[in-house]
Amino acid sequence: MTALRHALSFDVEEYFQVANFYDQFPRERWDEVPSRLDVGMQRILGALERHGARATFFFLGWIAERHPHWVTRCLEAGHEVASHGYDHVFLWDLGPEGFDEDLAKTERALAAAGAPRPEGFRACTFTVTRRSWWAFDVLARRGYAYDSSVHPVRHPVYGVPDFAPGISRVPAPGGAGEVVELPVSTWRALGRNLPVGGGGYFRLLPLAITRGVVERLEAAGRPAALYLHPWEFDPEQPRVPAKATARLRHYLNLERTLPRLEALLARFEFTTYRQVLEDQGALRSR
Ligand SMILES: [Zn+2]
Repeated sequence: MTALRHALSFDVEEYFQVANFYDQFPRERWDEVPSRLDVGMQRILGALERHGARATFFFLGWIAERHPHWVTRCLEAGHEVASHGYDHVFLWDLGPEGFDEDLAKTERALAAAGAPRPEGFRACTFTVTRRSWWAFDVLARRGYAYDSSVHPVRHPVYGVPDFAPGISRVPAPGGAGEVVELPVSTWRALGRNLPVGGGGYFRLLPLAITRGVVERLEAAGRPAALYLHPWEFDPEQPRVPAKATARLRHYLNLERTLPRLEALLARFEFTTYRQVLEDQGALRSR
């Protein structure tokens, strides 16, 4: 029997597309900003290759249209390509019909870049919450097998704090079927679920804590699910004059991301979200 495998993912977007910086970089000006995508993608793919690991890349459709070679490179290296939506809009701002169009547009962009139809989805900024639960109907109707957009934490913008961490099947509220949910990892402490699977916490907490969480999940027979972004591997990116809290979250310990990922890749086995869901019996193998 092989060791338990954990799920690793990257949301493929530019540093200037994060929700934190919407005010500084309006969507209609994105094409004017020089891309930094290559820096992060090269470092990520290099690290995965060195450790023989696989991962899921949730691409923005906007990125797949402009940088199709990164879709190709990911596929050639044996990684999974999935959908992060088209251009990073919160789901409740899209609404059900807008979300359907957003997914279709992203599917076309991924297909044009040579990817198979995506089976997995992660919403911009984890914006599948109780107020956008209709997303499961749209995903089920469009044939998505799994989602990783519910974050079982308390947060001012997103989060479903009472959602059970771990793999579950979510019935679409309108009866369109069901979607397998694999939320990014949280850790129960101080009476609440703490976000340990990525983002600022991944760079803030000592590596020993992240490693300890993965070890304890592994000991319990549960796969961890991590999420990172190419811009987190690019400490040299231009600094944006945003609010102090936004800057803190975005720039904190960027130089730590790559060595931390490498330490985890050396210690644990990581693969795609699709493969972990197969390993765990939540999806049938193809
Ligand atoms: Zn994103």
